[in-house]
Amino acid sequence: MNDRIIIKDGSVVTMNDAGDVIFDGAVVIDGDQITDVGKTADVLARNGTENARVIDASGKAVLPGLVDLHYHTALGKGWSDHLPLWEYLETCWYPIIRALDYDAAYWAALASYSESIKCGVTTVNDMYRKLDALADAAVEIGIRAVLANDVADPEHDLDTLDDNKTAFAAKHGAGNGLVEVYIGIEWLPLASQELLRDARILADELGTGIHIHLNESLTEVENSKQRFGRRPTEVAYDTGILGRNCIAAHCVWLSDSEIALMRETGTQISHNPSSNAKLGNGIARLPEMLNAGLNVGLGHDAAECNNSRDLFQVMKFASLMHRASRVDASLQQAPDVVRMATRNGSDALGHNTGRIETGRKADVILVDTKNQMFTPLMPENSDHLFSHLVFAANGSCVDTTIINGKIVMENRQLTTVDEQKVLEEANKAFRRVLERMVVPVSATT
Ligand SMILES: [Zn+2]
Repeated sequence: MNDRIIIKDGSVVTMNDAGDVIFDGAVVIDGDQITDVGKTADVLARNGTENARVIDASGKAVLPGLVDLHYHTALGKGWSDHLPLWEYLETCWYPIIRALDYDAAYWAALASYSESIKCGVTTVNDMYRKLDALADAAVEIGIRAVLANDVADPEHDLDTLDDNKTAFAAKHGAGNGLVEVYIGIEWLPLASQELLRDARILADELGTGIHIHLNESLTEVENSKQRFGRRPTEVAYDTGILGRNCIAAHCVWLSDSEIALMRETGTQISHNPSSNAKLGNGIARLPEMLNAGLNVGLGHDAAECNNSRDLFQVMKFASLMHRASRVDASLQQAPDVVRMATRNGSDALGHNTGRIETGRKADVILVDTKNQMFTPLMPENSDHLFSHLVFAANGSCVDTTIINGKIVMENRQLTTVDEQKVLEEANKAFRRVLERMVVPVSATT
C-alpha cells in the first residue's frame, strides 16, 4: 500500500509551464498521485496531517524525478574503456550481452537501477536483453521502467521481434503499470529495411513505442549511405520508424534535412552528451534541434560508455559541451537543462510525470542543499538554485527518491533492496559472464 505523504517547508521546483519555484512549499502525495502543491501554510490548512507521513524538507529542494531517456542496464562497466564505438561493440558489448542469462540480467539491472535511484532518476528507458529479468528487477526496486529488446537481423545473434513481442505479452503493464515494453532496434548497421518496417508494424499492432539508436557516429552514417544509399534518418523515415512514440537516441550527425524529418514526424530525441564524448562520437547539434522545436530529453546511455549513471553529470555535459564547441556561454542555461532531464523526458515517453503539479504521478526527489555544493545559496533565489543543480551538484546530493508514491530511497538508503547484496551479486554475474563470453575472431583481427 502507498502511504499518504506530505512534504513540507521545501523549495519546490515545480517545472510547470510557468516555471514556478515555490519557496517554503509543500507537496501532498496520496497513493500514486500528487494531490496538492503550494505554500506550506496553505497546503497544511487545506490538508490535515492525520494518517500522513510528514517529511520535513527544510534545507532541501523538491524536484520532479529525473528521466533517463536513453539507458541500458549494464554489467561490464570499465571494461575495454579505450575502444571507439564500433570496435567496442564487436569485442565487448555484443559478446557480453550474448552471454547473458536471467540471473546476470536481473542483478545487473538491480545494480544499474539502484545507482540511478540514488542519483534521483525515477524513470529509465532501458534497451537491453532478458526483459523478464529487467521487469522483475524494476518492480522489486520500484523504478518506472520502459523496456525494449536489442533487436537486430538474425545473423547478429541478438534479439528478434518475436522476442520483443513475447516480452510485451509477459511484462507490459507489470507492477501496476510501472513497467512498459517498447520495441527496440539496436541500430541501422545491424538492421535491414524489412526489419525496420516490421518493427513499426509490430509497434503499431501492440500500441506501443519504438526505441532506437540513430545517427550516433560517422561510421553509422557512412554504413547507411553504403548499404541504403541514404542517411540514417532518411532510412528511418522511409521505413516508418520515426514518429511521436519513437525515441531516437543520440542523433549526433543530423543534417538540416534530417532535423526537418524529425520535426515533421514529431520524433523524440534523447541527447547523450557524455556518452558521445567518451566514445569519440562527436557533439550533437542540440541548439539547432531545440530551435527546430524538437522535444529533447537526456540520457546517460550505459555505464559501459559513460561510466556513471548520474544524470546530474549528464546535465552538466549537456550545457558545457555546447558552450565550449560554439564559444558561447549563453547556451543551454540551467533551467532549460533541468527541463530536458525532467519534463521533456517524461513527455517523450507520454508519461504523466516530470512536473510537480496536482494530478501528476508522484515521482518526486528531495535534494539536500545543506552542503558545499549548494553554498552559497541566496534565499528564495531560483536562478541560484537552478545554477547549483546543473553546474555544482552531483547525484550524491539526492536525499530521498519517491516513485509512484512510494519512498524507494530515504536518507540515501534504498528501502526496497539490500544494496550490498545487489553489488555482490552483480560482481559475481560479471565474472560469470566474462568466463563464458565469446569474442568473434573477426572482431579481434
Ligand atoms: Zn545506447
